[in-house]
Amino acid sequence: MSGKQLKLIEYCFNQLPISLFVNPINGVILVALLWGAIPGLLLGLWLLALMVVTLARYRLLRAFRHRHSNAINRIPWEGAFIAGAGLSGLVWGASGVLLMHPQSYPYQVLIAFALGGMIAGAVPILSCLPQAYIAFAVPTMLPVTLNMLLAGDRIHLNMGLLLLVFSLAMVLSSMRMSQTLLELCDLRLHRDLSNKERKTLERLLRIDEMTGIANRRCFDETIKLEWRRGQREGGNMALISADIDNFKEYNDLYGHPAGDSCLAQVAKAMQDALNRPGDLAARTGGEEFSFVLPNTSLQGAGYIAERLRNSVQALNIPHAGQPDTGKVTISVGVAACDHHKVDTLDSLVQLADEALYQAKRQGRNGVVLAT
Ligand code: GH3
Ligand code: MG
Ligand code: MG
Repeated sequence: MSGKQLKLIEYCFNQLPISLFVNPINGVILVALLWGAIPGLLLGLWLLALMVVTLARYRLLRAFRHRHSNAINRIPWEGAFIAGAGLSGLVWGASGVLLMHPQSYPYQVLIAFALGGMIAGAVPILSCLPQAYIAFAVPTMLPVTLNMLLAGDRIHLNMGLLLLVFSLAMVLSSMRMSQTLLELCDLRLHRDLSNKERKTLERLLRIDEMTGIANRRCFDETIKLEWRRGQREGGNMALISADIDNFKEYNDLYGHPAGDSCLAQVAKAMQDALNRPGDLAARTGGEEFSFVLPNTSLQGAGYIAERLRNSVQALNIPHAGQPDTGKVTISVGVAACDHHKVDTLDSLVQLADEALYQAKRQGRNGVVLAT
């Protein structure tokens, strides 16, 4: 079953309670009005039939509401809904013959009026499925209309023609409404789809395509958010800046594609080295990475920084341009809010950068804390 079909069926069943409410009430009113003019047994049997059909439709509604999501294709809900509408139409139609007073015009007009009202009221309820409306309206109106047309006198003939025109008008209006509902369904599906697309897009906008970790945009948003949270809640926060050592040379030695692959491996290793859910690893430049660590002291961030450095070195990616290790390494700078100079976010970022440059100056592949 397609999403559109499902939405239509759901709309049908959502409307059904109104119909289940109106059917017995109108039936009782009709029987009360005809009481004394039509044999009581006939009225009783007719009302009983109406109640049985209404109950069956109620059971169907309950089954639909309690269905398992995987049973949506197994039960022909659409067919069952149309059958319910048809059965109800047959019962109402029967009143156009069985409950028709043989002589009294007022009683005859009453029946015609009641049946006309039923098919007019069914337009907004059943038009979601045009077949359901036809299945209800045709058996409801056909007996009473034929009854009038075939009575053999001019007044009944005119009444029959009136009923015929009215019924056709109702069927046409139901078809128009059905078209409108279909368009509404399309619009809703379209809206649901674009919501899903927007969420995917938002996610993609925050991810670095090459490495799969957060990008600069995500980092900027997160660090501002965490800074404000830290200020509000008096929490500590740390920032780590890391940069791959002699990476220009790596590209020169092994080529740009190998450089790209190295960047992805380094990013993944560092991301995996974080284990608090609130920590963020982001690629903030070509071969530069930044880490936001909420509620973390300088000392704690120092341990994490050392873990990042170790996990990159443990990748054992050969780098012939590195004099000491012969492997790809990173230099790391760490700053945190427990430093006396940190009073703005910019000062935190500046301290982390200064610490990173110092790590580079000290010979690379090391961690420096901004103290
Ligand atoms: P240092 O140890 O001082 O950081 O030296 P470095 O060579 O790493 O620093 P530098 O800033 O001089 O060079 C960074 C190089 O990173 C330049 C560029 O070749 C490389 N790079 C930047 N972005 C990418 C990228 O997306 N892919 C690849 N393959 N290389 C990149
Ligand atoms: Mg750099
Ligand atoms: Mg570098």
